[in-house]
Amino acid sequence: MLEASGLMVFYENMLALNNISVQCGDNQIVGVFGANSAGKSTLMYTLSGIMEDIRKKEQMAGGERITVLGQVRYRGEDITELKPSLRAKRGIILCPERRRIFPESTVMENLRIGGYLAKPAQAKDTLDYVFQLFPALEKLKKRIGGFLSGGEQQMLAIGRALMAQPKLLLLDEPLMGLSPLIQAVLVKAIRVIGKEKGIAIIVTEQYARPVLPIVDYAFILENGAAVMEGTREELLDNPDIRSAYFGI
Ligand code: ATP
Repeated sequence: MLEASGLMVFYENMLALNNISVQCGDNQIVGVFGANSAGKSTLMYTLSGIMEDIRKKEQMAGGERITVLGQVRYRGEDITELKPSLRAKRGIILCPERRRIFPESTVMENLRIGGYLAKPAQAKDTLDYVFQLFPALEKLKKRIGGFLSGGEQQMLAIGRALMAQPKLLLLDEPLMGLSPLIQAVLVKAIRVIGKEKGIAIIVTEQYARPVLPIVDYAFILENGAAVMEGTREELLDNPDIRSAYFGI
């Protein structure tokens, strides 16, 4: 489904991604784990194409120089130069870090905005699916987004991303700052989305442990470089990795 190779991103002279290659197959859930500043969001922006927008904006504003190298292939096509909006149309949908819902719009409005590219019947079916996945959201349909709890906002962010009809969903730190109870609800939902809907998922997290049970394959990022990768079993079989990254 997605194959990125040799990704390098520089913010001025600072190397944020150092020769990263990641793959995500159809129906796979892939984890990318790393501490603060490891490069997780930079990777997600590069895969979704938003990095290209950030780069151009900085260039136009005479701001910092951002350099992006490497290749991103999606369903056999080289999309390295493709605009983020066109990547979204092809099904690569980013659910960004810190949720970024529209805080002044209602839950329903947020979801409708997410579904603006979908056909009406598709949008209706997906809306039903989102409410089935997150029953709490249905009860909050008319609530203003900014008044939701962190967990509810994350459900809304994922729901909005689903409304955009993803084939590959990029989830950037969906569990950040949430209680273990809410994290468990979200992890279960992410697994259901991947396995039931057949949507490929790349999920980043600082702490691997809550997400590890649902990933098929994972990468560990340190200072922009992939220091380890493997199937869930391979990572769990490595005692150093277990204690250093998974706390088990
Ligand atoms: P976090 O968990 O804090 O979100 P992350 O793993 O997502 O971290 P990135 O946000 O990708 O990490 O940042 C990687 C490195 O690049 C960090 O050192 C960060 O300070 C730097 N960085 C990110 N965005 C920019 C930018 N626009 N300009 C300069 N440096 C940046």
